[in-house]
Amino acid sequence: MDAISPTEAVDAMRDDYIEHDPAADFEHAEQIFQQDNLNFREQIADPKLAHWVNQLHPKYYNFATLFPTAKKRKARKNAKRRVILAKQVEKVFPKLLYPGEHVRFITRGTLNSFVEQYFLGLVALLINRTVFVVTDFRVLLINCDGKGRPHQMKWQIPFEELIVFKPGGMIGSTVFQARDDKKLKFSGVHRDDRKAIESVISERIETAKRAEIAFPHHRGRDPLCPICATPVMMKSNSCQECGDEFVKPIKVAMLSLLLPCLGEFYLAHRGIGLLELFGYAITLMVVMAISTSGEPNAWIVGVILLAFAHIFDAFLTNHVASKGIRSKSLAWKKP
Ligand SMILES: [Zn+2]
Repeated sequence: MDAISPTEAVDAMRDDYIEHDPAADFEHAEQIFQQDNLNFREQIADPKLAHWVNQLHPKYYNFATLFPTAKKRKARKNAKRRVILAKQVEKVFPKLLYPGEHVRFITRGTLNSFVEQYFLGLVALLINRTVFVVTDFRVLLINCDGKGRPHQMKWQIPFEELIVFKPGGMIGSTVFQARDDKKLKFSGVHRDDRKAIESVISERIETAKRAEIAFPHHRGRDPLCPICATPVMMKSNSCQECGDEFVKPIKVAMLSLLLPCLGEFYLAHRGIGLLELFGYAITLMVVMAISTSGEPNAWIVGVILLAFAHIFDAFLTNHVASKGIRSKSLAWKKP
């Protein structure tokens, strides 16, 4: 897939994916698509539901899959929740979505990371919140804040690479796995969304199999460039498409080795940075107390304790920084 640019590849595959009339030109197909959306909107009988659907621009979404038929009260509640979330993410759609790519579903959850939860505790939940955007071609996973506002780190799994997708299991959990990648478990996914997303994804996997065309990608799950959203190789130093330079995890680790918390501030995880600074201050006080206790060689214990704090934090921030791609230009500023 490296030989042609993602935009060219999408141009080539577009006709095969457009269901209405494969012979029609792209602009025409796009017009039909938007007209279907407008028809869908007009046929909504419940004015409150229509109010929510009206908030979304018909060019980005597939209304029929985003708002599946449900009982009145449920339909309203689900529509409201999905629309509020979609509005938070919508501003990144112009660079994120390829021409002819529409959002079929959107929901959110929190990635369970054993290492981080073990060492950072509940704080890990704050940095692993994720929006799932299911499009015609792929699942987009977007790191976000508590309101669903996108952070820098994003990944994609094209449907032909999605080998495991399981909603349910543990309460609120949803599992994704791409070929040659580990299982990603998310918790806190809304119950109604878990059911709805399953039917959207299985239908898309079938379509991807029939079309026999690969969406541009390197591996099963690729991180996306934070600036231009092109799929890039994991551990890349820069983007081949726009030239943006990426944050090197080793640099983040070195900052934390120098002063625990500094790496987190570099990643703009300010809350965690402050917590670590606080923890480090306490460690320093303990070390001072031990060193001045008058016991022979007590200072050695102090030095070992201090070294441990620095090295431990360097490993932890290296792990956190290695999960996805961040732009060097946004270091210190944006998470
Ligand atoms: Zn780029």
